[in-house]
Amino acid sequence: MKKSVPIVDMHCDVLYKMQRDSSLDFIQGPGLDVTMNRLQEGNVALQTFAIFLSEKLGTPRFEHVFRQIEIYNLLTAQESHPLRLRPLRWKEDAQELRTNIGQAGGSIWSLLSLEGVDGLEGNLSYLDLMYKQGVRFIGVTWNYANWAADGILEERNGGFTNKGRELIRRCKEIGLILDVSHLSEAGFWELADTTERSFIASHSNARAVCPHPRNLTDEQIRTIIALNGRMGMTFVPWFVKEQGEVSQTDLLKHIEHVCSLGGANHIMFGSDFDGIHQWIQGLEHPGKYTDLVELLQKHYPETLVRQFMYDNMLTFLCENLGDKP
Ligand SMILES: [Zn+2]
Repeated sequence: MKKSVPIVDMHCDVLYKMQRDSSLDFIQGPGLDVTMNRLQEGNVALQTFAIFLSEKLGTPRFEHVFRQIEIYNLLTAQESHPLRLRPLRWKEDAQELRTNIGQAGGSIWSLLSLEGVDGLEGNLSYLDLMYKQGVRFIGVTWNYANWAADGILEERNGGFTNKGRELIRRCKEIGLILDVSHLSEAGFWELADTTERSFIASHSNARAVCPHPRNLTDEQIRTIIALNGRMGMTFVPWFVKEQGEVSQTDLLKHIEHVCSLGGANHIMFGSDFDGIHQWIQGLEHPGKYTDLVELLQKHYPETLVRQFMYDNMLTFLCENLGDKP
């Protein structure tokens, strides 16, 4: 069988699920969207694992963040699968992946991100610790306000706090890349106006196609493009289509729209697998990425499909990650 196009996925919530239920098996499930078997099945070359603290864990504390890092470390240490889950931390790692992508190999690469800084408890020195532990992307908020900024569902639509502005500066110094999915619009514009650095929206679609607040406006998308950032198309059904059955074809409308704004070089994917309990029909887990590739190949030239599926994001990583010390 011909191997499908490799995939880079910039968001899933496996770590949080495994923190809540330590009996879950990451190799084959059940109970997880993302498993090693399905990553292999879908030809996923790089999966990003978010550290996410839900309200269900109680007051967000750094020990929760650390626990999820420990779970990630266990996953990358596991040797009970033919493929290893290998951490991607440096420019050199991204270059190695980009050079060898598509070749049969013994590993799937993985990245660590933080979804909402709530668990850092306002302590900026934890950012250094996060970086040392391999975290490379920082989502400032989840949907609500925290010590750094407002999330997108806060009605007052506040921007960054003073401490949040310090966080932006500190992330820049350390080399942590910011992620604006979930951030309030005021926060988005404050960041865009004060930074020359590229940032990403790891899992957000286009609001012009589906009017959910978690999706980005055309102005926001144009700004991400202008700053040479990246935008991860996401599989949350109600971010794809307002109502009714949601299909992979509905997702194409978002891709088409971002392309129409000039974003063909900035599209990537952030599935949000394991952060959702409803799925796009036919796109229920990473193993189904091969079907999405086939659909895209009917609509776009092969080079563009490869850009969307992995190369736009790998180029970004090669340009934005730090050198191996
Ligand atoms: Zn999210």
